[in-house]
Amino acid sequence: MDAPTPPARPILTAVLLAVGSELTTGETRDTNSGEIAHTLSEAGVEVAWISALPDRLGTVVAALRGALDAADLVVTTGGLGPTPDDLTRESIAAVCGEEPAVDPELARWLRHLFDRRSVAFAEANLKQAWLIPSATAIPNDRGTAPGWWVDRPDGRVVVALPGPPSEMRAMWQGPVLARLRERVLGRERVTRTYRLTGIGESTVAALLGEPLLRAENPVVATYARADAVDVRISAIAGDGKSATLCADEATTAVLQAVGVYVWGHGDDTWPSVLGRGLERNGWDAALVEVGTGGSGARLLGEATWLRTTQSIAAGDPRAAAVLVDLADEVRRGAGASIGLAVRAIEKGEDTRVELAAVGPWGVTESSQTAFLGGSEGRRRAGIAAAAFLDRILREPSTRGQD
Ligand code: AMP
Ligand code: MG
Repeated sequence: MDAPTPPARPILTAVLLAVGSELTTGETRDTNSGEIAHTLSEAGVEVAWISALPDRLGTVVAALRGALDAADLVVTTGGLGPTPDDLTRESIAAVCGEEPAVDPELARWLRHLFDRRSVAFAEANLKQAWLIPSATAIPNDRGTAPGWWVDRPDGRVVVALPGPPSEMRAMWQGPVLARLRERVLGRERVTRTYRLTGIGESTVAALLGEPLLRAENPVVATYARADAVDVRISAIAGDGKSATLCADEATTAVLQAVGVYVWGHGDDTWPSVLGRGLERNGWDAALVEVGTGGSGARLLGEATWLRTTQSIAAGDPRAAAVLVDLADEVRRGAGASIGLAVRAIEKGEDTRVELAAVGPWGVTESSQTAFLGGSEGRRRAGIAAAAFLDRILREPSTRGQD
């Protein structure tokens, strides 16, 4: 007899549980949950929380209960091995109030795997052939531990995957996602990212203001990344408005508050944004940096529009040259349209950044103080050089003055 079809509950929220004492002792990092969270978020499923748990039955059972109270989908990784410390199956069985039993078909498959490799079959392995009545096996082509897909009577789903990332990934991206997509998976979500420079995260937050940053829909959040402060807007439909309209309203507010600092969107990087600006003008560029430890080249070095990069150490006699002369030299040497020069000078706790560009329009110079000294200040000098060139390319009026 077929199992009754569970109600088609949409999967809108999830909790992820990473099981294994190696995670709670810090020997292994939980990378599995991050990967799963990424796919779910992209699909518009809200991940309510992620926990790492030791191999302890009571702890895993309590976490599963809490997760099933809160979410439509619970995904566990780890704890599916053959040894007594792998307790995920026992924990799920306890939460469901069901008894695990060896599934003859899985047992045959498992024995066959060992026969094929002429390895003796230890009876302990039979644990990997267990199922409970509410579970179906998720095939594992790369290992000996199948996963479990468990349908709860209220339509919630528990998915148990093995810990080794390559096994987990193949099963998650293959059979599990296929099966999840048979349901309503996630809400339509409109996500926009604005990339800012020349402003710190706390100032961005102050300009956006608490009402915007605390709103539940759209969610507006700031992230300090290596190359930018990102403002991310993530909207779902609500209050009778579409997700797009909700995102549009937040976008207007965000751009009003911090629009002047925006240099890119979405997946933009400095090389891609500057590349577009240069292409509009039919230009390319050459870079010379002084005292930056090569941070500009690290930021931009892979760009195809960059003809050459030169790094002059702070102790080099040429380090004190007039910056515009250095920019002009590197431009002529490389035969590039633009010569861009940046010099970082440690000033107490902070870094003074001098900038110069020579191009078809003439000469532009600027200077600023970057927050922090040392390697952080040098890194920021590289970003300041990129932002300086961006401003020149964007606003022809800034060329020749500043
Ligand atoms: P298990 O399924 O518990 O037998 O896990 C086997 C191995 O997978 C562990 O020894 C770890 O090296 C790896 N592993 C387990 N959980 C994770 C996780 N959450 N993230 C990354 N690797 C993991
Ligand atoms: Mg384990």
